[in-house]
Amino acid sequence: MMNDSPKPEKIRCDACPVLCYIADGKSGACDRYANHGGTLVRVDPLTIIAGGEQALVPFLPEAGDDWDGDIIKGSRPFITAVGAGTTYPDYKPAPFIVSQEVAGVDMVTVVTEGIFSYCGVKVKIDTDRHIGDERDIVYAEGEPIGHVMTSEYGSKMLSLGGVEHLTGGSKKEGRITCDALLRLCNREAVTLHVGDGDHQVELIVEAGKAPVVDGITEKLMRVGCGSATIGMFAKKWLGHVDDVVVVDDHITGVLSEHEAGKQLDIPPTGIKMLGRRSTPGRYFQVANPGTGWGGTDIEDPLTILGPFNAKVAKSGGRLFMVSTTGEQYAYFELDADLVPQKKETPEPLKASAALIAENCEPSVCSVLFMGGAGGSLRAGVTDNPVRLTRSVKEQLTHVSCGGAQAYVWPGGGITVMVNVLDMPTQSFGYVPTPALVAPIEFSLRVSDYEALGGYMDHIRPVSQISREDVRHVGENRQGDNPMAAENYRWAKGS
Ligand code: SF4
Repeated sequence: MMNDSPKPEKIRCDACPVLCYIADGKSGACDRYANHGGTLVRVDPLTIIAGGEQALVPFLPEAGDDWDGDIIKGSRPFITAVGAGTTYPDYKPAPFIVSQEVAGVDMVTVVTEGIFSYCGVKVKIDTDRHIGDERDIVYAEGEPIGHVMTSEYGSKMLSLGGVEHLTGGSKKEGRITCDALLRLCNREAVTLHVGDGDHQVELIVEAGKAPVVDGITEKLMRVGCGSATIGMFAKKWLGHVDDVVVVDDHITGVLSEHEAGKQLDIPPTGIKMLGRRSTPGRYFQVANPGTGWGGTDIEDPLTILGPFNAKVAKSGGRLFMVSTTGEQYAYFELDADLVPQKKETPEPLKASAALIAENCEPSVCSVLFMGGAGGSLRAGVTDNPVRLTRSVKEQLTHVSCGGAQAYVWPGGGITVMVNVLDMPTQSFGYVPTPALVAPIEFSLRVSDYEALGGYMDHIRPVSQISREDVRHVGENRQGDNPMAAENYRWAKGS
């Protein structure tokens, strides 16, 4: 029998250039929008920061609780762009343009989920372990998604994503790059491979968690370079040993030659270091980078020593060697031929290694989203986009991402960087163009909004914002408050 009932029509989602046609009960290609009985809906809840009155754990109102239907809870509600949706093309006003009075000042926040084709993440990995050489390619699922960049103090750095990987390579490279960025930004663990061939390193990165390098979970971030460690703890070794070497991939320190040792009247010991001497008691390149002592490739610390100077060294001379995290250490005494012989480490020296370890911070991965909002999404804020850019530079407009303080880079455009751990969970989405979807909010005085050509007709008081699906979160651990007067130049009297 023929079924004459009309086939429900698909509706078109116009929230991004993909322009999906979505059947009833289905969602579009990005799973962000769905057709609910002929109505296009944003699937994820709108996230509201409810001042200091709510728990930090996000929650949804549950059936049977005493939720009163008031989505604006808390004394300082802030409508974030998480779950707010996107307007496309960009000349359409942003999904929410919300006003509220804050400490006697009429403020407005323009809220949108930006589609970022120019975006990526910077990853800081607190470890001395060798994770690859600077400029090594970083792969996810076999596709190049970024590279190793300059090491920082006690940390390795990755630059992942960016428009070249999202759009400049194969379709597969773009898709996998986007997927890796999305998972990193949403705080998931991502397995990466760094470098090529026999020096490839496997790395598991997860925001806020310890990195896993070649299957080993890192514990401690080094206390400092080898030279700094000598400077910090020289007094602890005084009287317990004749010389100390702090093994470090970058700057290995030697107590008897170091200025710290000189000032403590520690005499020369005839020690001979391999590697390149920089300044007294500071040596570069004593070994190759690796996953051994102090981020070098050595497991036997004696391999970085040459023969002791027979004119200076004495039989029985005591030597302590330790890594920059205090996790590896060994004690030696010179025999009659001035060859170091390993002995049981005396208690005061064990205690000094424990003190180094105690002064190390836990090793964690930090993931910072970086994206360029200087492009077309500005048109959802004002019909004269450059005025928004100027307003940001003049500190009349404050930029936040999911309510978290965003660092705005100097120079042209609105290039922002934000710690994903400061943002609500599940803040990020994607569209298959491919591009990442990230929340962004612009807050400013209503008068300044009018001056920059804002969509005044679209302003709605915060009390009139209504959505069926809302989650409330507490303010983030930094206590970021996009509405705080100190964010704005006008509050500074300039
Ligand atoms: S990919 Fe998502 S946002 Fe883009 S048109 Fe499809 S459903 Fe809408």
